[in-house]
Amino acid sequence: MKYLSTRGGMAPQPFTDVLLEGLAPDGGLAVPEAIPQVTPEQLQAWRSLSYADLAYEVLKLFITDIPEQDLRELTRKTYRPEVFGGEVIVPLKPLKQGVALLGLSEGPTLAFKDMAMQFLGNLFEYVLARRGTTLNILGATSGDTGSAAEYAMRGKKGVAVFMLSPAGRMSAFQRAQMYSLQDANIHNLAVHGVFDDCQDIVKAVSGDLAFKTAHRIGAVNSINWARIAAQVVYYFHGWRLATEGAADPMAQVSFAVPSGNFGNILAGHVARSMGLPIRRLVLATNENNVLEEFFRTGIYRPRASSETYETSSPSMDISKASNFERFVYDLLGRDPARLKALWDELAAQGSFDLSAYRPQFAQYGFVSGTSTHADRLATIRQVHAETGVVIDPHTADGVKVALPFVEPGVPMLVLETALPVKFSATIEEALGQPAPRPAGFENIEQLPQRVQTVNGDAQTIKDLIAAEAV
Ligand SMILES: *Cc1c(COP(=O)(O)O)cnc(C)c1O
Repeated sequence: MKYLSTRGGMAPQPFTDVLLEGLAPDGGLAVPEAIPQVTPEQLQAWRSLSYADLAYEVLKLFITDIPEQDLRELTRKTYRPEVFGGEVIVPLKPLKQGVALLGLSEGPTLAFKDMAMQFLGNLFEYVLARRGTTLNILGATSGDTGSAAEYAMRGKKGVAVFMLSPAGRMSAFQRAQMYSLQDANIHNLAVHGVFDDCQDIVKAVSGDLAFKTAHRIGAVNSINWARIAAQVVYYFHGWRLATEGAADPMAQVSFAVPSGNFGNILAGHVARSMGLPIRRLVLATNENNVLEEFFRTGIYRPRASSETYETSSPSMDISKASNFERFVYDLLGRDPARLKALWDELAAQGSFDLSAYRPQFAQYGFVSGTSTHADRLATIRQVHAETGVVIDPHTADGVKVALPFVEPGVPMLVLETALPVKFSATIEEALGQPAPRPAGFENIEQLPQRVQTVNGDAQTIKDLIAAEAV
């Protein structure tokens, strides 16, 4: 399997070459040259596999330049009960008739990003060793991504992480999660400023090509294809759990996905394109409804960061959805020239109009809806009252938007993208009591923290990286 750019300007590359790059040289995103197809017989055979072995079967369709035995070891090393809190790795948690949560947040940082990032950590270590090189990951975070990256890369050989976060702007729990890591290869840099300032520094440092090359600067952002591929796995897993014992071996399931950068739901789209019987992909946004607007109207109009609201489901507060280009590529019949023309139009006009393609949205299974702060609180309360389960604010957006799309005979799986303890202030607002704490996290705020507070200028960060790089 080779990888191309959505904009057509990249010679076909094997998986491990695109793995360590960000954007393609032409500014596009890497996509597989064809979507691998899965047969009904394969789907049945995969029912009895462990999660790790299911991951191996799915991932080997996308990763053909790593020996199969090594890939199997990588998935078994990643998807272990000790890392993901139990044998099933991703449990199904029924809420009511026909609706269940898909428990993607049992990993070390209690958010779904662990599902892909834990695999990425092992994959990077393996590929870097094989190539005899090292990588210094530079990133900016306002919460979930940074901690998932750090927990995935901690103690890995040949990798260091330099993670910028806005000083004093994350919750005490999120700070404790990140800053309590004592591993020598993890560098927490708290910047005086807001998230956008952190992001600007990352852009300035990685925009200095000489510095970037000299120190082998890399990223683990959500456009990395390996993250998408690893996320495809849990759609297959969710399907097999929800259709166990069904009379029809190709029984359909719908998924509802709390969305921001369009990475999670893109993996669902890929799974459906591979032949998994998915009926609907329900895209849920919060007040930042760029994607909901697109699926409702066909008009894509990314917002300025000044137009992006700070909400109580902060990991979905995005102004432009970095993975969306891959979906549009498929929508346009995988035609890079048309895609490129559309993105040129976007750059020139700030929006584009694909309303002529609205019939195809349904053909791809997509529907969408938005949820507000009041909806989130009401949904958290309602689910708690009916089931005793406490859900996090992002998952609540998913449940709220999913409910009108529930159909008889089609299980609706809402992706649980985080556990509520990460966003306890909103849980207290909704329920008048703090979120339950999973075992092992009781006193996390009391642990010693390892963080450097730094000035928000690129030179300071460059000097730090130069001194500590692997
Ligand atoms: C990252 C994140 C999302 C959004 O996922 P995308 O892949 O960016 O669409 C939703 N919920 C939580 C808790 C997250 O951390």
